[in-house]
Amino acid sequence: MSAGTSPGPAAPVHGRARAACAHPGTPLAAELPGLDACVHCGFCLPACPTYLALEDENDSPRGRLVLMRALADGAVALDDAAVGTHLDRCLGCRGCETACPSGVPYGRLLEATRATMAGARPRPLVARAMLAVFARPSVLALAMAVARAWRGTGLPSVLARLPGRIGLAHAMLASTAPVSLRPRGGAASAVAAGPATGGLPTGAAPRREPVALLEGCVMHGLLGHVNRATSRVLAHNGHVIVAAPAQRCCGALHAHAGDREQARALARSNIAAFEACGAALVAVNSAGCGAMMKEYGHLLADDPAWRDRATALAARVRDVSELLAAAGPRGGAPVAVRVAVDHPCHLQHAQRVVREPAAVLTAIPALEATPLPDADQCCGSAGIFNLLEPGVALAVLAPKLAQVEAAGAPLVATGNPGCLLHIGGGLARRGAAVRAVHPVMLLDESYREQYSPSGGGPS
Ligand code: SF4
Ligand code: SF4
Repeated sequence: MSAGTSPGPAAPVHGRARAACAHPGTPLAAELPGLDACVHCGFCLPACPTYLALEDENDSPRGRLVLMRALADGAVALDDAAVGTHLDRCLGCRGCETACPSGVPYGRLLEATRATMAGARPRPLVARAMLAVFARPSVLALAMAVARAWRGTGLPSVLARLPGRIGLAHAMLASTAPVSLRPRGGAASAVAAGPATGGLPTGAAPRREPVALLEGCVMHGLLGHVNRATSRVLAHNGHVIVAAPAQRCCGALHAHAGDREQARALARSNIAAFEACGAALVAVNSAGCGAMMKEYGHLLADDPAWRDRATALAARVRDVSELLAAAGPRGGAPVAVRVAVDHPCHLQHAQRVVREPAAVLTAIPALEATPLPDADQCCGSAGIFNLLEPGVALAVLAPKLAQVEAAGAPLVATGNPGCLLHIGGGLARRGAAVRAVHPVMLLDESYREQYSPSGGGPS
């Protein structure tokens, strides 16, 4: 069947009646209409990083959808190890959704399938431990404090050279240290002082909606300088920053891993927290978290007490680049540096926010931003995926790192903590003189340079 004759997501395929699910009442059963929408055209295969890396149809979107169908039909058991392995290897990057002409909601299907299988096939111990930490604020705060202290010793940079999961974890931790926006080891400053262009004086920005910032888990714990820069930049563009102290982890890690009930509990906490703060909008500087919060309505669709509140909150969520692009944003001082730009999957494919990150960088005079050739391809991070499936994660990362180095820029910008850690850690392990930076840090540097000619590092 050609793409042009494909049905919509909820229609039967090839005119046949939709088969009942062998596991009624499960998340997979609820998502069957989406599964029926696949016409097996294969257009998604070239967009799939695990298919490109592993060259196995079972590790492609089409192959995984066939496996989901086999599970739904009862042709294979929910605890089937081989099927579980192929679904475990999926990054959840949703590049296949963008490529699919039939509108197959692959991300929802993956999460529903993992949630359905979770009852019969326990998650690995490492995954359970990590998800438990992220669901408990006091334990998470302690873990992050220990990680920061360990990072402060400088040893993670040394241990990053170890092979496997240990080395990767230390490389990622080392990469979370605040980045100087000057080239590593370079004699020349990448930041040039100069007059402001195209901007308004401090305090003269038009007043915009009050926003509450989702602080996030990794962002708050290890990348606090990015959160502080985000607040400064939004305030400089006219937004009043409102505190939402009762907020929690967004639940994305849990939803992606199939722990749907924990994800729903975290979503309810965040809905209440952001309702109580009174802000008109919720600003998110983590693409994965933003994608999750924008889907709270779907996550709680079968909960009558929370469904409408979840939908209302989801409609108030904005990626920071969306807010800044809508604001203009205000211009800053020149930052004469070349930047390779990568697009986080959960910004481009899940939120369909494509144009805004580049629009933000155009507010910085003298900055030369160039998208990576395959900027729409996943880097292999995918939340905790890189620690659970390090072999696949590093295989997916390799072409991304090669493209970053080939770009010849001292910085690579990406608006998601997972991507910052995975790409930044990978570059450090290769000894590359390229640093990963959140785009908002560049705009913050431009503003700070504008009002303090001596500039300054992140704080
Ligand atoms: S998911 Fe979409 S693109 Fe991929 S095989 Fe199915 S219909 Fe075709
Ligand atoms: S979500 Fe990403 S890794 Fe998974 S099947 Fe789709 S394109 Fe492939």
